[in-house]
Amino acid sequence: MSETQILTVVSTRDAAVREIAPRLGVRAEEGRRFAELTSLRVGGAVDWLLLPETEEQAASIAGELDAHAVAWRVLGAGSNVLADDADHHYVLLSMREVKGVARFDGERVSVSAGYSLPRLCVDAARRGLSGIEGLGGIPGTVGGALWMNAGAYGDEIGQVVETVRVARGGRVAEVPGTDVRWDYRHTSFRDGELLLGATLRLRHDDPDQIKARMEEAKQKRFATQPHGARSAGCFFKNPPGSGLSTGKMIDEMGMKGAQHGGAVVSPVHANFIVTEGEGAQAADALALAEEIRDRFRREHGIELEYEVELWGAAAPSLIESDAGEGANDEQ
Ligand SMILES: Cc1cc2nc3c(=O)[nH]c(=O)nc-3n(C[C@H](O)[C@H](O)[C@H](O)COP(=O)(O)OP(=O)(O)OC[C@H]3O[C@@H](n4cnc5c(N)ncnc54)[C@H](O)[C@@H]3O)c2cc1C
Repeated sequence: MSETQILTVVSTRDAAVREIAPRLGVRAEEGRRFAELTSLRVGGAVDWLLLPETEEQAASIAGELDAHAVAWRVLGAGSNVLADDADHHYVLLSMREVKGVARFDGERVSVSAGYSLPRLCVDAARRGLSGIEGLGGIPGTVGGALWMNAGAYGDEIGQVVETVRVARGGRVAEVPGTDVRWDYRHTSFRDGELLLGATLRLRHDDPDQIKARMEEAKQKRFATQPHGARSAGCFFKNPPGSGLSTGKMIDEMGMKGAQHGGAVVSPVHANFIVTEGEGAQAADALALAEEIRDRFRREHGIELEYEVELWGAAAPSLIESDAGEGANDEQ
């Protein structure tokens, strides 16, 4: 595309966003930086950030963006994303404000995508509902957890999902949890699919025992992971089906404390890359991650797969945000 064509596309897109957002009552902000929006605290500016507050608003805005062929991506709490340092020329749909309230009904809870996962775990525990207590320390939204089937200490969110609400053609549609493939940190949701909320089916248990399991998981986390650090959790998946721990293997390679610019392999947990200092860049974290992958390949013959999502600055393909099947299947 020539520079003139790009300018035309951008100005048409900006005009569309300026018309759609106020009409739907959605806050729109320009030039926000991934460094403020993600837990790694690095990454460049994004052209537009849209902040719907209800599931219906989020579904409508996604439908309108698709109808106007505007490229967009979804962000939850940003705790599993490493975004490039360059400027990102697309629209970011933040689900953080789509919080609502958790509605409990017997063993079921219906919750919106922007609801905090740790908060939901506490809400459920207080009601004597079990099934997600292992997830209490995962610092993201319910939507982010659904997207990648977040899990810890024996629990995975996919195990308790009864239905998921997704945006389809500008409306809220319900998908049975059994129609989704819930794999290890991966699901069959397709790229560009907007998850609006879910109904989870938990089970009654003794509240004291649930709290004790939550406390145990918290203590394990405290003992084995850096806290208060700028990270995105585990950077790489464990080699599938091997029973091997990537963190342990990186540690045995002597890489704890290895550094590239403002990125460091955490001395506490070798599968955590943390960023430090004002000057830290996404490029530092990526270079360090690639150094780990190179050594891993040479020393173990294993190709490490990223658990963190790497977001390049280029606009996501519009094809990805069309209705279709399983792009997330490919990882
Ligand atoms: C200290 C720390 C510890 C962690 N420990 C764990 C752990 O034990 N287990 C674990 O599984 N993860 C862990 N993580 C990783 C991360 O917290 C989880 O992956 C979390 O579920 C991501 O949620 P999020 O809202 O931050 O998603 P984001 O990082 O904002 O987004 C992640 C992906 O989900 C997509 N997404 C987010 N919301 C939606 C939506 N509503 N609709 C469609 N797509 C969406 C985004 O487009 C992106 O592709 C940890 C992270 C940190 C920082």
